[in-house]
Amino acid sequence: RQEQFRALRDVESRTRDGQEITLHMNAGLLVDLPQLAESGASGIGLFRTELQFMIASTMPKVDEQESLYRNVIHQAEGRPVTFRTLDIGGDKVVPYFRSAEEENPALGWRAIRFSLDRPGLLRMQIRALLKAAAGTELKLMLPMVTEVNELRLARELVDKEVKRLARFGYQLPSRVLFGAMLEVPSLMWQLDELMNEVDFVSVGSNDLFQFVMAVDRGNSRVADRFDTLGRPFLRVLRQIVQAADRAKTPLTLCGEIAGKPLSAMALMGLGFRSISMSPAAIGPVKSMLLSLDLGKLETGLLEAIADTRSEKTVREFLMDFA
Ligand code: PEP
Ligand code: MG
Repeated sequence: RQEQFRALRDVESRTRDGQEITLHMNAGLLVDLPQLAESGASGIGLFRTELQFMIASTMPKVDEQESLYRNVIHQAEGRPVTFRTLDIGGDKVVPYFRSAEEENPALGWRAIRFSLDRPGLLRMQIRALLKAAAGTELKLMLPMVTEVNELRLARELVDKEVKRLARFGYQLPSRVLFGAMLEVPSLMWQLDELMNEVDFVSVGSNDLFQFVMAVDRGNSRVADRFDTLGRPFLRVLRQIVQAADRAKTPLTLCGEIAGKPLSAMALMGLGFRSISMSPAAIGPVKSMLLSLDLGKLETGLLEAIADTRSEKTVREFLMDFA
């Protein structure tokens, strides 16, 4: 099967009825980069910058950060890379940022909350990214956004760094695209504002599922208790697609469900046209979509999601369809 998947590497990513689907891969370290060519992914939909911080014993200096980002951009050979700013805290522990014990770390001082409270750190990372992407397009994404206003604060820091670098005569990126991860349910009630505030949105389905269903993603007693393909969560995802369509904001999803062929199929049926997954999943997902009649799936899936009286679960519907 590995060989079969490899043979699909250069095949266009289109459903049987002709809909183009963008398949990106997730990465976090330089060792992941050869997988781009291996897997045939058309870019990196999520680069987890915290990995460099998590494997270091002291905080990476700004030029070490810049050098990593520059290498990543270089090795991506013109394919787009979405850099996520530091997503530490919660289950991602960094030893040299000592913080007080938290009773609920997943709900704690993490990601953009931490970054906005440590603006010096965030500015340093933004500076490294801006310099590394000189002359090319920089895609910058903020994790764990809870209120749209946090994006405005983060954008002010980006603007300050752009001005600062320009003042010192550095070459800037040709364009900076500013995006948000949608992984906190509060954004469901700010969807239109969110979609109009950013250049792109990426659903972090791991955290979004955790928070929507109130199940700890790391606790095996509950993590699999509810179905990611159940009606509640799929309805949430459908609303996100509709809001993105209304605002014409590019939308993608980068959680684990993107990498399972059956759930990737569901995402396409909901209207996602771009997803990002672990590199090993690209082959199996592409193999699925090449034989997919998307038009037919869409109609059936939306009915299955709406139909609360059905005896069948949505997962069963999807299995039958597949
Ligand atoms: C997610 O939450 O779905 C996600 C992609 O981010 P992470 O798994 O790094 O929290
Ligand atoms: Mg997340």
